[in-house]
Amino acid sequence: MAQRCAAVAQRARPKPAGLQGRANSERRSIAAAAPLKRVAAGPKRNNINGNKNEMQLLTNIGCIWQQAQELPALRRGAELAKLPYLRDAYMLLDGDRIVEFGPMSDCPATAGYTVYDTQGRDIFPSFCDSHSHLVFAAPRQEEFVYRIQGLSYHEIAAKGGGILNSAKRLQAMPEEQLLAEAKKRLLALLRLGTGALEIKSGYGLTYEAELKMLRVIKALKAWAPIPIKATFLGAHALPPEYKENRAAYMDLLIEQLLPKIAEEGLADYIDVFCEKGFFSLEEAQRIMEAGKAYGLPAKIHCNQFNSMGAIEAAIAAGARSVDHLEVLNAEEMKALGQADTLACLLPTAPFFLNDEHRTPARKLIESGAAVVLASDYNPGTTPSGRMAFVCSLACIQLRMLPEEAINAASLHGAYAMDLEQELGCIRPGAKANFFLTEALPSLAYLPYSFGSDLIEAVFLNGKLHWEKQALD
Ligand SMILES: [Zn+2]
Repeated sequence: MAQRCAAVAQRARPKPAGLQGRANSERRSIAAAAPLKRVAAGPKRNNINGNKNEMQLLTNIGCIWQQAQELPALRRGAELAKLPYLRDAYMLLDGDRIVEFGPMSDCPATAGYTVYDTQGRDIFPSFCDSHSHLVFAAPRQEEFVYRIQGLSYHEIAAKGGGILNSAKRLQAMPEEQLLAEAKKRLLALLRLGTGALEIKSGYGLTYEAELKMLRVIKALKAWAPIPIKATFLGAHALPPEYKENRAAYMDLLIEQLLPKIAEEGLADYIDVFCEKGFFSLEEAQRIMEAGKAYGLPAKIHCNQFNSMGAIEAAIAAGARSVDHLEVLNAEEMKALGQADTLACLLPTAPFFLNDEHRTPARKLIESGAAVVLASDYNPGTTPSGRMAFVCSLACIQLRMLPEEAINAASLHGAYAMDLEQELGCIRPGAKANFFLTEALPSLAYLPYSFGSDLIEAVFLNGKLHWEKQALD
């Protein structure tokens, strides 16, 4: 990617500190959007293996948030509020990996490295968004207006809107066009700090269209500069033609689609929308068991509007995560507190639906559940993949602390996609996917500034992928 570091006229900004670093107690004022300063530092130096990879050194980092020397375990209970950080730091990259980081006072000599003077900006590991429906044919803003006019989610679905509306449009759209639309959305997400993404099928709902969706996701995997995980969600809604014959649709999913998906390696997980009017507990159990037989762990939609026993069933089936969880009872929270199955919250969905159900996140955290935050990016109930806003809403509406929200959206998001060895925290050996924000006065400033674009640069695979242009 282009590294744009041309001199641009700038407003007065804090003077970059020298390589000797600053006193820890010194905090910066909010920096103007000055471009990262790339310093020419002589001939390239080889890395420790003698490879010709370009090694990159980031200096004068205001704070590295979510850092660790070893892979952290899931943070449960009070641990979730602990977000390790390092102020006044440097970081060294080799190829697509983080090699080391430490206080500026220990910063290596710059000769031979490509050096970025970050001028006090803060660094966060990329968001790991473990729940999205990024591949879709068209937005559904007309339903937005239906809702303003007072129609409920179920009434809109009954009018042929909702998921079935998306399915009709997706079935009609050629694969190449679907892919092109999804690429545009994905590129936009990268600038918002997303560095790993799960994408579901479930707007196909026919043999051909589900495969088409999953092939689009496969093509995205090959094209995107970030890891993508694919989830088969054929059981998203019952197509109307199967209204009188649910068993035939279940057979289509289990007997016909699953073997084909496994044969082509099109999915990493299996999903089912277990909810009144969608799929029953028994059907959800059947889907999860069938997925397991093909090596696809479950990540299921449940407890969005009703408790139906899906959480206990998912835990029993060894599901990776249960997602939504706006409606939770005490037994379910207790079960999640003792389970390996992660509890993935999607606060932007009820926000957008103006739904009164809100996950009792504080009780859920107290129960010891491993809490994840994800976007649920989809055209019907969350037309946004902005993870920084997901974190803001988790704080504002679910009363999660900023530290808890960042843990849930980065480290735990990586766990929810089985990517924790690569992503989720700033760690030696981890993939160098991270973003730089303007210099923050404190961590809370990030979720507090819910309408602001604080992300000023994005590194993916150790390379500067995007940098905000100074406009003045
Ligand atoms: Zn969803």
